[in-house]
Amino acid sequence: MAREFSKSFYNSIEWQRVREYVMARDHHTCVKCGAVAEEVHHIIHLTKENIGDTSITLNADNLICLCKDCHFKEHKEDKYNGTLKAKGIPEYEYVFDENGMLVRKKKDN
Ligand SMILES: [Zn+2]
Ligand SMILES: [Zn+2]
Repeated sequence: MAREFSKSFYNSIEWQRVREYVMARDHHTCVKCGAVAEEVHHIIHLTKENIGDTSITLNADNLICLCKDCHFKEHKEDKYNGTLKAKGIPEYEYVFDENGMLVRKKKDN
């Protein structure tokens, strides 16, 4: 899901190295669900503003291994909450209930 502004970053040798490092650190395992990790995710998302800031972009502490599904969810929920926030509608989070079902819950701020 590389967007235009981050394309050259994702092609850089520095990124390839950090990515390898994080994959090895997290044992190629998704930190959310334990599946085989396929992607490395920035906890603080990359933006046009921070793409030049290596303390965010190349900081292993800001990186986690995720499988495709979990990675997709990370970004989707973020976008979703961002839209709601802009409209002044309460944010929601997804939690597991006592039966292990994923339920939507209003965030208590
Ligand atoms: Zn996962
Ligand atoms: Zn990501």
